[in-house]
Amino acid sequence: MKKDITTIPISEVFEPKEGCPICCLRDMLESRLVEYVLGPSMMEPDVRMETNKLGFCSRHYGDLFSQRNKLPLALILESHLAHIKNSDLKRDTDLCFICQNVDSHTEKLLANLFALYGKEPAFRHLFSQQQLLCLPHYRLLTTRAKSKLNKKIQKDFLSACQSLAANHLKDLHRDITHFCSMFDWRSNSEDADWGTSKDAIERTIYFLTSRNV
Ligand SMILES: [Zn+2]
Ligand SMILES: [Zn+2]
Repeated sequence: MKKDITTIPISEVFEPKEGCPICCLRDMLESRLVEYVLGPSMMEPDVRMETNKLGFCSRHYGDLFSQRNKLPLALILESHLAHIKNSDLKRDTDLCFICQNVDSHTEKLLANLFALYGKEPAFRHLFSQQQLLCLPHYRLLTTRAKSKLNKKIQKDFLSACQSLAANHLKDLHRDITHFCSMFDWRSNSEDADWGTSKDAIERTIYFLTSRNV
């Protein structure tokens, strides 16, 4: 696989300060991999061998299927079915070529992130200014930090992660509580104020799962 497909400058992901930056990183990797699977990878026999063997999860089949040109996907499915037929229907349904690549490239990009965090005060500041960290990525970052950052920087990093996730959780909790209270008969008037709570369910599910409903 060509390196430029998965090369993403960390600052590009953090500069917009919108949503969870690690979700943004994952989304960029996913969309590049979808394009790659349906385009250039068709000409690379070693990658074709891998997609034939692994197949995809339902989310990523969905992404591949939503693209306009159906022929590359049909060709991949044709080879994948042939592979399953030849292996007596043995297929591990947890496997996915895109998930595997997103995971391995995320690890590499996180190594760049930690290196940057360790040496650049400006990046540490940019990190602390993010809008939020979703819960799955809060867990990912805080787990990895323990082996990737020295003690002093680690403390600073963990507390930055903590406030990004905890502050967002506090806002969500307030909004979802307000959302529930809107169903109380006392709020049942036309001018009842929803405040910022109208999409509290969607935002809460996103925070908990890192995916939009
Ligand atoms: Zn996230
Ligand atoms: Zn997948």
